[in-house]
Amino acid sequence: MAAKTAPYVIDPPAVVAVPVEGAAGLFPVRRILCVGRNYAAHRREMGGDDRDPPFFFAKPADAIVLPGRDVAYPPRTSNLHHEMELVVALEAGGAEVPPERALDLVFGYAAGVDLTRRDLQNAAKDKGQPWEAGKAFDQAAPMSAIRRWSGPPPQGRIRLTVNGQARQDASVADMIWNVAEVIAEASRLWRLAPGDLIFTGTPEGVGPVLRGDRVEGEVEGVGRLAFEVV
Ligand code: MN
Repeated sequence: MAAKTAPYVIDPPAVVAVPVEGAAGLFPVRRILCVGRNYAAHRREMGGDDRDPPFFFAKPADAIVLPGRDVAYPPRTSNLHHEMELVVALEAGGAEVPPERALDLVFGYAAGVDLTRRDLQNAAKDKGQPWEAGKAFDQAAPMSAIRRWSGPPPQGRIRLTVNGQARQDASVADMIWNVAEVIAEASRLWRLAPGDLIFTGTPEGVGPVLRGDRVEGEVEGVGRLAFEVV
């Protein structure tokens, strides 16, 4: 009897799947879009022009660090920064989604940290080069479990501490593009699909984390995450 022909010449990559608060099933991640400069005070601390609109970049799904796991200090950097963010998880997709229908795509929300090799990002900015080395590295996206959600998006506090010291403390209501606008804008650039995550940008107070630091973050009403940098 002939052996069955395998469909792949190497093992396919595992699906990255994030726990859902209070549910047995996991949320499978397709890709991660991220919004840059979506809070005015952070845009200012990064030296941005007040008139520049937010913009997108991306991380691979396998950059996710699941809840409860620690983060290995990444290679080739000496300036790893935390950026605490509200994360949107999509259960439906589409292109050219109007803002008034955008929230229909939402499965739920999570708390996440857009870890950034700031030195590599700044070097790329200076040279007009792409940001992947600064943003899309391994373990660059620790996040909480996803909380299922319908109706108006979270409006509460977004906070991050390092070793118990407050670093970031703001409100997700201060986003320049709100959640519906973020989804609508993204859908003008890409056809969104179930499993897409969107990191919606960080408020002011970004700063370095070192080996041995304990990072704790919360988006009020959504979730908490905690990890050690090892
Ligand atoms: Mn960010």
